[in-house]
Amino acid sequence: MKTIAVLGSTGSIGTQTLDVAAKLGIPVAALAAHSHAKLLEEQARQFSPSFVALADPDAGRELKIRLADTSIRVGIGDAAVCEAACLGETAVTAMVGIAGLRPTLAAIDAGREIALANKETLVCAGELVMPRARQRGVAILPVDSEHSAIFQCLAAGRRSEVAKIHLTASGGPFFGKTYTETYHFTREEALRHPNWAMGAKITVDSASMMNKGFEVCEAMHLYGVPIEQIEVVVHRESIVHSMVEFCDGSVIAQLSNPDMRLPIQYALTYPERLPCPVRPLHLTELARLTFFPPDLEAFPCLALAYDAIRRGGNACAVLNGANEAAVAAFLRGDIPFGRIPELVSRALDTVPHAPLSGLGDVLEADQAARAAAAI
Ligand code: MG
Repeated sequence: MKTIAVLGSTGSIGTQTLDVAAKLGIPVAALAAHSHAKLLEEQARQFSPSFVALADPDAGRELKIRLADTSIRVGIGDAAVCEAACLGETAVTAMVGIAGLRPTLAAIDAGREIALANKETLVCAGELVMPRARQRGVAILPVDSEHSAIFQCLAAGRRSEVAKIHLTASGGPFFGKTYTETYHFTREEALRHPNWAMGAKITVDSASMMNKGFEVCEAMHLYGVPIEQIEVVVHRESIVHSMVEFCDGSVIAQLSNPDMRLPIQYALTYPERLPCPVRPLHLTELARLTFFPPDLEAFPCLALAYDAIRRGGNACAVLNGANEAAVAAFLRGDIPFGRIPELVSRALDTVPHAPLSGLGDVLEADQAARAAAAI
């Protein structure tokens, strides 16, 4: 078993990754999170990594006190999170937002395999991250359920034989509603996802379907497929996690009950498959699977994501930065749900379009987008 460093270990994907690690006996080399000192302390005591890090300075000082009776080294701040990223053979990147970018780059530079759960890294900087990973010979294995499905389906043929990727979307809690109907929806309504229990930020992104736009971008970067060959299809049951259509018309799908432990485990054990506690699929109980085209008028965030992807350069970093700011404002209760695409659209209209030549350009676009989306 390869040792792992788990970044964002106190979040939804992070805790499920540690569940998988505990079951399979995967050694944990390092843990990092933003600010949840109490849970990180518990995880540190359970998994005995050599190093733990918190990005937030106050929480980091608290963690140091909490772990004073152990030999576990505690790091504080962004540099410490980057250090943690490099300590396992595989870095599981499960932090939220662009905060994952630097640690992911650090792990790639250190030659660590990446189990990628932080899609914002590829959305903002896929043009920089993917070539760097190729250059270093670093594998980037998908943890996102759709991308894990695509990865598994791709094994059925050659890349040159791929005709289309069918990226499935649950449609979230607001499926079937119009934009006007959802405009004044609140945090509580957006956090009621029908199929997946996830962190707050990604749950809101699922409700707005921005998450699916990000995933189109993620699939393009991971698999080198142009946007024209990726089709989003709404599939309410979240049983088919995505499909790959080959040039002869064969469509290969990956199915399972929705449970993130399956894609997480596959990323950690690849190319092996091991038993997983996911509930077995009983097709006759399901009776039917449904598929619908996405409604771009009801979900303008998906349309904005398509626009940004087609524009290229810094546009997706602007899209992501504005979305992070808008979703944070929504989660604080400062804006209604319908304001999210309005603020993202404003940022895309006002931040000057520019090519990306390095990390500085990404961070600059991110900052400008956050300022433009401020309420
Ligand atoms: Mg997903």
